[in-house]
Amino acid sequence: MGQYNYDETKDYPGAYSVAGYSGIAFSVYGYHTEPDEDTEWSGYENRTGDLVMVMVGDDRMHRVDPDDVTPIEPDDYCGECGQIGCGCG
Ligand SMILES: [Zn+2]
Repeated sequence: MGQYNYDETKDYPGAYSVAGYSGIAFSVYGYHTEPDEDTEWSGYENRTGDLVMVMVGDDRMHRVDPDDVTPIEPDDYCGECGQIGCGCG
C-alpha cells in the first residue's frame, strides 16, 4: 500500500502543489509505471501517464494526475515540514 513503481525523471525539478492536498509541497519521484502481460519477458513496465510524488519531508508515495500538479517556488514552502506558507523555518 502506498508503494508504486516509477521511471525516474528530471522533467519535474523542484516542488509542486497538488490538487486536493492544499498547503503541502510535493516533489516528483518519476513517471508511474505498471506491469502488463509483456513485462514478464520484456522486463519493462508501461507508463500510466500519472506521476509518483511524495510530500516534502515524507516518503509515502502518491499516484497523481499531472493535470493536478502546479509548480511552486522554493520560497513558497517550508523545507523542514513541507507546508506552504509555514513560518517554522
Ligand atoms: Zn515548517
